[in-house]
Amino acid sequence: MAKTQFLDKKIEGLKEEGVYRKLPVLEGANEAEVVLNGEKVINLSSNNYLGFANHPRLKKAAIEAVEKYGVGAGAVRTIIGNMDIHEELEEVLAKFKREEAVMVFQSGFNCNAGTIQAVTEKGDLIISDELNHASIIDGVKLSKADKAIYKHSDMKDLERVLKEKRDNYNNVLIITDGVFSMDGDIAKLPEIVELAEKYSAMTYVDDAHGSGVLGESGRGTVDHFGLHGRVDFSIGTLSKAIGVIGGYVATSKSAQEWLNHRGRPILFSTALPPAAVGAIIEAVNMLMETTEYTDKLWDNAKYFKEKLGKLGFDTGHSETPITPVIIGNESKSMEFSKKLKENGVFVSAIVFPTVPKGTGRVRCMVTAGHSKEQLDRAVAAFEKVGKEMDII
Ligand SMILES: *Cc1c(COP(=O)(O)O)cnc(C)c1O
Repeated sequence: MAKTQFLDKKIEGLKEEGVYRKLPVLEGANEAEVVLNGEKVINLSSNNYLGFANHPRLKKAAIEAVEKYGVGAGAVRTIIGNMDIHEELEEVLAKFKREEAVMVFQSGFNCNAGTIQAVTEKGDLIISDELNHASIIDGVKLSKADKAIYKHSDMKDLERVLKEKRDNYNNVLIITDGVFSMDGDIAKLPEIVELAEKYSAMTYVDDAHGSGVLGESGRGTVDHFGLHGRVDFSIGTLSKAIGVIGGYVATSKSAQEWLNHRGRPILFSTALPPAAVGAIIEAVNMLMETTEYTDKLWDNAKYFKEKLGKLGFDTGHSETPITPVIIGNESKSMEFSKKLKENGVFVSAIVFPTVPKGTGRVRCMVTAGHSKEQLDRAVAAFEKVGKEMDII
């Protein structure tokens, strides 16, 4: 008998709760309209905000990088995997982010896992928003510092924690998502920064959903609020709006140098492949050339959100292109998503444990790559299924 049989019981449990699923299979590139498990659908589920994942300019840059550097970096950066394009990428990103220095990681997840533990130690305190991303939670777990949680975006609660605990610790690090990925709300960064300055704490913003979306040409939440130089660690992902793979932290030169020595994913995991690095440099240059990509994204998101709102859907309190449609019940959310797919729209259901119990939803991700005609077709499917299921 297989020793993993205990897992079958757990999987049975998922089936009983109605949250069991198979991985969807995408046939071809991640585009606004895709073939998924053999069916053509409008894609409202990707993080490909700017349509860069299959952009001709990025593909060309990737191919050129492969021709020059090959397909793999061949080693971790601290041994012999640090190519001149990795250095160039960090320079380009620092310029784009208008910060002193950037350290690139293999993913946003890795960046959180590696950075948080490297910049905190025993005797320090990490204060984290209760809705922070899983990779922050894991990063915090890897740290030897003490931990405290504050209620989501509740500045009174954050100040309560600071008041109660600040004096018992050496360094204090306040961590927040820049944009909260399940609701699309933006962190109250100006207030967080003020509290941090008042209580001499450091600030850490994970801007995975703000990079390429908020601020001038997608420079992120720090730029959106004009807080350059006042946030100590500004994390971005290169896998969402930038369309490729990777993560980075924009920070001081000293923190960058420290991560070079103590960031475990830098020391123990191979550097990003040249194709990815070449494509990312091109993407960042494109954003520095023009705001046309981010303008199109916001225009499409506003258009879609207004139409769903008029139909009577509960789109929550999003301030970004992330558009949740809140259903509540977990299995009803799954059912809604399934029916939408039958009607040519792929929008994945997001349920517990990714969001709190009873707040199941489908989360629509509108991108710069959608045409108005595609968005209209998606809205028509929402209306039809929403009426059939008594949601509107
Ligand atoms: C997606 C996401 C990450 C992980 O980024 P990857 O580059 O996909 O590993 C980290 N933090 C937040 C807030 C995210 O939404």
